Amino acid sequence: MSNQIRTRMAPSPTGEMHVGSMATLLKNYAYAKKYSGQFILRIEDTDKEREVPGGVQAIQEVIRRYGLDWDEGPGKGGDYGPYIQSERLAIYQREVQQLLDNDKAYYCFCSKERLAAVKEQQLAAKVAPRYDGHCRHLTQDEAKTRVEAGESYVIRLKVPENQEIVFTDLLRGEIRFHSNLIDDQVLLKSDGYPTYHLAVVIDDHLMEITHIMRGEEWISSTPKHVLLYQAFGWEVPTFAHIPVFLNPDGKGKMSKRKGMVSAISFLERGYLPEAMLNFFMILGWAKSDQEEVMSLQEYIREFEPSDLSSNSVAFDLVKLNWLNGVYIRKLSLEELADRIKPFVPAAFPSQKLMAVLPLIQERLVTLADFADLTKFFYGTISYDATVLLKKATPELVIMQLQQTVSLLQAMNTWDTATIETAIRQLQEEKDWHKGQYFMMLRLAVTGEKATPPLFETMQVIGKDVVLERLQQALTLLQKL
Ligand code: GLU
Repeated sequence: MSNQIRTRMAPSPTGEMHVGSMATLLKNYAYAKKYSGQFILRIEDTDKEREVPGGVQAIQEVIRRYGLDWDEGPGKGGDYGPYIQSERLAIYQREVQQLLDNDKAYYCFCSKERLAAVKEQQLAAKVAPRYDGHCRHLTQDEAKTRVEAGESYVIRLKVPENQEIVFTDLLRGEIRFHSNLIDDQVLLKSDGYPTYHLAVVIDDHLMEITHIMRGEEWISSTPKHVLLYQAFGWEVPTFAHIPVFLNPDGKGKMSKRKGMVSAISFLERGYLPEAMLNFFMILGWAKSDQEEVMSLQEYIREFEPSDLSSNSVAFDLVKLNWLNGVYIRKLSLEELADRIKPFVPAAFPSQKLMAVLPLIQERLVTLADFADLTKFFYGTISYDATVLLKKATPELVIMQLQQTVSLLQAMNTWDTATIETAIRQLQEEKDWHKGQYFMMLRLAVTGEKATPPLFETMQVIGKDVVLERLQQALTLLQKL
């Protein structure tokens, strides 16, 4: 075995990648990079029934869209391939033969009906359902004859009796399981496909994976894997089982039912991949002196699996939104323009984009907020006219609007400074209440109470449209 660190992510193409998986992937990636090792992407596609079309492509695409990459795997090659399990069937069949030869595994010919009947009896007797070992004691010759006669079979692991299985988890220390509680599970299915347990162990071994960091939902599978490593006589890699995320409210495992949990869906909702990665970095990381905003390079330098908390943490949307804002504000206007393109509504006048972006950059929580924050820069606005009458009589507001219209109409230059000077002068001359007048004007021009700075906004909206909207306000008030 080489002494290089080799980590892996082994997703199944059974649906969109969950944010929890992306967070786990990041840890495997960072650990390999930290020690100049390799990060391997392996596709675990042995469950053909659950596979979704395009699933293998989608996995690769989402990893790349998050700005990460793999050293070996699909599309990349490497010395340990193929990296797609369905292309490795001959390897599993060859390796499982070793287990049969060494009496560590056995052929099982039990029919579905028999297995169902056994399960039913066990449930009726209130014992945990498991394989009853019916075929465990067939001699090799008997089995061979039946195989040759064409009988359908699976291959099961011969789990040793009365044995304690111990392994170390980097987050939890020693974990013990008793072998008597472990089923003689199927390793090779009747269609010649391996089960997850068999394939994962063979591949992690043959690909010389040194550290397996995966979701904690796999912890109960690990003793089975340890038994398999022992049965093969292979060295057991180091394990770290990473807690799952809880829902943002801290209640229950973050699940599809409570919203969109796929890694890609966050990008589609306007989260920046670098903000997502930073969020994954700090979530559940128990190092107390750590900065919250950190780059991938810093994370790679700092990351140690043993610094991860073994408790599940909530997927804190407030923190994610804050981080996303931090990263949006770090972008140059050109970068922001580029990233925000998919979120710009078709009706938005594109020649205004570069003028609008500096006005909203501070206020974007996600890129998708663009539509809402900019709708008054184009198109029509609507509001209830009575909002214009806050702290003023209709007569006063009508007069204010008329005088503002005359002032603006007479202006030859239309830029922020000129608009601002003129309007402030008018307000001072007439001694209008500042708060009342400016808020009324903001509402008349945009239809909104909260907008970017008024004069910049007026400049970008343009003289004609501003005048039109002031006229619209006058008409509305005169109808009241
Ligand atoms: N194929 C498994 C999954 O989809 C991999 C589990 C593991 O990392 O061992 O998550």
